[in-house]
Amino acid sequence: MRIDVLTLFPAMFDGVFSSSILGKAREKGIVELNTVNFRDFSNNKHSTVDDYPYGGGGGMVLKPEPIFAAVESLTDPLASKPRIILMCPQGEPFTQRKAEELSGEEHLIFICGHYEGYDERIREHLVTDELSIGDYVLTGGELPAMVVIDSVARLLPGVLGNETSAVTDSFSTGLLEYPHYTRPVQFREWAVPDILLSGHHANIEKWRKKQAIERTWRKRPDLLAKYPLGKEERQWLQELQDGKDTSS
Ligand code: SAM
Repeated sequence: MRIDVLTLFPAMFDGVFSSSILGKAREKGIVELNTVNFRDFSNNKHSTVDDYPYGGGGGMVLKPEPIFAAVESLTDPLASKPRIILMCPQGEPFTQRKAEELSGEEHLIFICGHYEGYDERIREHLVTDELSIGDYVLTGGELPAMVVIDSVARLLPGVLGNETSAVTDSFSTGLLEYPHYTRPVQFREWAVPDILLSGHHANIEKWRKKQAIERTWRKRPDLLAKYPLGKEERQWLQELQDGKDTSS
């Protein structure tokens, strides 16, 4: 996969793109990560990329010309069309489903805004997707783009060491993930649940499923409402709701 990021602050991506799992994915050639400073595509001698809003009001607005020119410099009319993603607090809320969908693409272009906003013609005539990472406003689109890129790249085959780990992640299954434990068996007065030491894989699987359902019910009942529960799972949920212990 190839990912290009249009930003006025390319240095912000240096650490994120070269460290940890993303850095390794890049070294292995699974993902190509590039930043493009769209100021380089400004068509005026002062290299400005923003201007005052028509109609008055506070804040500066990103001009359309440099952003269109930067995107056009990255696209090959003969190749498959990239997804052009505008980072924007007004966009579609970003989810694991969206990460899964984007991980199937060959080429993603992210546009990171700054200042008050974008000229509306960018939104109307250039982008294919508008994404928000939550109902709050940041100073720029760089951190949101990093969030999306990280979650998409980790889904690409070969990026995570253990291929199954993304499959059991919270949200991928529709539920929050079950709890994890590692050594030591006894830490202070807290012990690892016996079931995990039993070596009985079927019982461990069942315990994990129950834990995932309980966690989702307690922390994110909105997710559970959308999850297609099987007969046994419905029974566990009923027991939880009735206040019975379902831990075994
Ligand atoms: N005036 C805009 C509004 O009310 O919708 C907010 C502009 S914000 C200060 C500047 C830039 O930060 C946005 O253009 C976008 O690229 C990015 N940004 C801020 N919050 C974001 C969020 N929750 N999700 C995605 N991008 C965000």
